[in-house]
Amino acid sequence: MINDMKQKVMEILLILFVLVCSYQPSVLAKPTTDRHKLTYEYLDQFSGTEFKIDYPQIYQALTNVFMELPDDVFHALTDPKRPVIFVSNITTGIARYAHATEFIKTKKSTFAQGFYLITLADELNNTDDVEAIEGIIFHELAHRYLEHLRRSQFSCEMEKEANGLVKKWGFEKKFLKAKEKFGSKKIGDSPCQDLSINNNPK
Ligand SMILES: [Zn+2]
Repeated sequence: MINDMKQKVMEILLILFVLVCSYQPSVLAKPTTDRHKLTYEYLDQFSGTEFKIDYPQIYQALTNVFMELPDDVFHALTDPKRPVIFVSNITTGIARYAHATEFIKTKKSTFAQGFYLITLADELNNTDDVEAIEGIIFHELAHRYLEHLRRSQFSCEMEKEANGLVKKWGFEKKFLKAKEKFGSKKIGDSPCQDLSINNNPK
């Protein structure tokens, strides 16, 4: 009798265990899968096809960035009424004089409130460190999120503000890699950097 009870309890526990195991992964996996799908759909519509074809490192960085952004930021930046569009800036070969990217309008991309254009230089692709490229993209997206282009005047404070937001989103490591890899190396590269050197001569 006692053994029968034990057997029953064990069976119930086993069923519960199986249920818990099969239930949890689907709950946890859902947002990631959705974000994955949304990211690819978004980039298919709003980034030039050249990234996928010619600049795989940059394309990987774009994908990672949109996979990792906080939810509210992701939704604000990928609103089809006012999307962020990515095109390349080619700095070598005759394409550096002029090149075109075509965006086919779909039902979703209404542009009802305009769009925000980010150009990414082909040179970014010359690194194996995709996280450094991500740092650049996060910085540009932070300017958009903070609506810096809608202010009447540019100020170096905006650079600090954008970098601060990238850190707040949790990507300080990538920001530092971008700074190290692509940051201002000499006087004249970056007016804000030059200014901070002049203000702290040492
Ligand atoms: Zn900036």
